Amino acid sequence: MRSIFPKLYGNDAVKARLGGAIVDGRLPHALLIDGQEGSGKTTLAKEIAAALVCEHRTDEGYSLPCHICASCKKVMNDGYVDLHVTERAEGKATIGVGEIKAIRRDTFLSATEGSHKIYLIKDAEKMTPEAQNALLIALEEPPEGVVIMLLAAGTDRILTTIKSRAQHIALSRFSPEEISDYLVRTDKAAERISREDPEGFRIAVSASDGRIGIARRLIEPSMREGVIAERGETLNIIKALGNGRSFREAYEAVMALPTKRPELAASLERLISALGDLIKLKYAGEGVTFSFFTDAEEADGAGGRISSARLFKLYETVSSAYDYNYKNANTSALLMTLAARLREA
Ligand SMILES: [Zn+2]
Repeated sequence: MRSIFPKLYGNDAVKARLGGAIVDGRLPHALLIDGQEGSGKTTLAKEIAAALVCEHRTDEGYSLPCHICASCKKVMNDGYVDLHVTERAEGKATIGVGEIKAIRRDTFLSATEGSHKIYLIKDAEKMTPEAQNALLIALEEPPEGVVIMLLAAGTDRILTTIKSRAQHIALSRFSPEEISDYLVRTDKAAERISREDPEGFRIAVSASDGRIGIARRLIEPSMREGVIAERGETLNIIKALGNGRSFREAYEAVMALPTKRPELAASLERLISALGDLIKLKYAGEGVTFSFFTDAEEADGAGGRISSARLFKLYETVSSAYDYNYKNANTSALLMTLAARLREA
């Protein structure tokens, strides 16, 4: 049998379950695909869509995406007429009831190309409650051949009534090794970068926080430089806090952080991730996945000497600075206070 959904990396259990459902002809008419940005939600949704419309059959008579036939290609290139994609309009924070009602009306029109009408709703967690209620009706008894896929980064804001009518599919994050391996195997440009600049490649991949789509962007030369600089900024602070000599170094490293609010938020987030990693290093055993550091060796080298008690205090201090940044505190004053608090921690 062909490999199921070859374009989606990892997630073997998900692929086996969905592949099985397609093979048995019992793919649910509503799916809730849940994963962080870059986790492969759109890739998976398109693979499922292609499976539904593929013109080829396996020897066993199954329909799985062949990626060769005209229908598969159209789906992959966003040219399949009966595949409708709904996403937030530019500059809008939510998906409103109007957009969902348009989908509902459309489901009753017959398919143009084949026997399926497929709807992808991106950022589904951004649907207003009214929009979600409107969608409920469409999910209850959709016309024959209609498949609705909701793509969401987290499902907290999705109504229970929606969740109970859609099959939940959770996509996982990956370790830096898994991402490197995947990118090198499947992406010629990535493979070249990994050879030409192995260090930059490694840093960019570990900065992707387990998300393949993000890693693919970060390894691009224009992005890599920025990533390396930002990472250096965080490492400087951790190293200064860890070496226990003068406070001056830590003070200077903190004051070097950006003062523009969004950039400062990102810097503080990285610092929180790094401190979180160091806490994990103390308490978790083998096989822990780090968010900031590439591996245990790097984490230990940078901040291994900071005691657990101090790590917790530092973590709290930086977290509260992060919150204050969003309460419109003056960012330069915030940095000075942070630097002073880090000394006390
Ligand atoms: Zn095909």
